[in-house]
Amino acid sequence: KNSRVPLMAGNWKSNLNHLEAVHLVQKLALTLADKKHDFGKVEVVVVPPFTDLRSVQTLVDGDRLQIRYGAQDVSEHDGGAYTGEIAASMLAKLGCSYVVVGHSERREYHHEDDALVNAKAHKALAAGMTPIVCVGEGLEIRKEGRHVEHTLAQLDGSLAEFTAEQVAGLVIAYEPVWAIGTGEVATPEDAQEVCAAIRARIGEVHGADAADGVRVLYGGSVKASNVAGIMQKADVDGALVGGASLQADEFGGICRFY
Ligand code: PEP
Repeated sequence: KNSRVPLMAGNWKSNLNHLEAVHLVQKLALTLADKKHDFGKVEVVVVPPFTDLRSVQTLVDGDRLQIRYGAQDVSEHDGGAYTGEIAASMLAKLGCSYVVVGHSERREYHHEDDALVNAKAHKALAAGMTPIVCVGEGLEIRKEGRHVEHTLAQLDGSLAEFTAEQVAGLVIAYEPVWAIGTGEVATPEDAQEVCAAIRARIGEVHGADAADGVRVLYGGSVKASNVAGIMQKADVDGALVGGASLQADEFGGICRFY
């Protein structure tokens, strides 16, 4: 665990216009400076809507902020006649370091399956960005006790055709759907159970180096008040944060959990 730099990623979802985005990133930078945050110790990433990215880039570059940023989705196509799609090369050109793929809201509302998530992850990586590949079960599956099996099946499908070296550099986010935006946080033990299973499966398929390198995040109602317990777990390398990432104090507190 000590060889992996923890990562806190704030998924803003469909919130904040480009002016509000600049305001929040500025406030976050000040909050982290106040808290004497060490960016070498915990990586900080914001994931705004596409329309905010250019403004965030200008701010981050202009003020030499150590905050990184990414996009919430990417096209599975390289560009061309695909109205409404954003190609990976466009995001890379804007300085994005990360791309979230397969978020449960996209799987549910846009019917994205593992094959599509896999194609998007490949496009992100080919353009030089790190995919944050989201997996996780819904409430019914959790109640039936099939959460590990279900999440690992999503993982296998989403990671098809990646080499061991590529997998070592990926980020996987385990997000139980029943804990997203509900205030119902999984216990640290719940998070550890599935994050450990994800790492073990990666070890089986891609070997020990991939398993040691890959960062596995937990996501689902993470707040400054509950992050420390989750981060104590051996196989949890950070958090994907929704609601709490829209407040600089709260997200700053999550990043400065140590
Ligand atoms: C998310 O959308 O990735 C998420 C974890 O949301 P929240 O923190 O609001 O539960």
